[in-house]
Amino acid sequence: MADNIVWHNHKISRADRAANKDQRPCLLWFTGLSGSGKSTIANALDVALHNRGYHTFLLDGDNVRHGLCKDLGFSDEGRVENIRRIGEVSKLFADAGLIVLSAFISPFASDRRLVKKLFPAGEFIEVFMDTPLETCEDRDPKGLYQKARSGEIKHFTGIDSPYEAPVHPEVRLDTSRMSVDECVESLIGYLLERGLINHKD
Ligand code: ADP
Repeated sequence: MADNIVWHNHKISRADRAANKDQRPCLLWFTGLSGSGKSTIANALDVALHNRGYHTFLLDGDNVRHGLCKDLGFSDEGRVENIRRIGEVSKLFADAGLIVLSAFISPFASDRRLVKKLFPAGEFIEVFMDTPLETCEDRDPKGLYQKARSGEIKHFTGIDSPYEAPVHPEVRLDTSRMSVDECVESLIGYLLERGLINHKD
């Protein structure tokens, strides 16, 4: 870390920003294989929360690689740095008082742990998209599994790069068994139960 850099305490606190929005910030971290439904479910939950009047922000794998992380590749080092940056950006959005939804394969447990550490207890919600590889590969929404199987793409998570499944996720969703609506209901139920959103709507 650079020396001689001093943290400035802002006059408007994280709590002040959240209070103006009448909500509690948190991060829903969607992790799982490509095609497991992270983007689909995160988007559907984003719509559900937005329609209930909550202030949200969605960070999505492919989108950040167009800008913030466009200099990073898919080597282990590139993946680690990608998640580190996204964790820090998620924290900034939560500090701004938002409910943040981040959808990234994030295959390494150690990286997810680092993101969790940036958040107060209870505000990091790990959502494990526990959809079987077989279903993800059958769906192959972007044709990436086919390319990985043929060797056209190397280091593809689930094929020739590991995915470390969360052991104690806050929410576990298998989209081979649950519809999009059921997944959203389950997440809304979790947020209500934890008092992160309320029944005002
Ligand atoms: P990821 O973001 O994990 O790579 P996507 O959300 O992009 O996954 O892709 C999941 C694909 O599976 C989409 O094409 C989606 O329409 C399809 N799908 C089918 N059933 C479901 C379901 N119950 N939940 C989520 N996605 C589903």
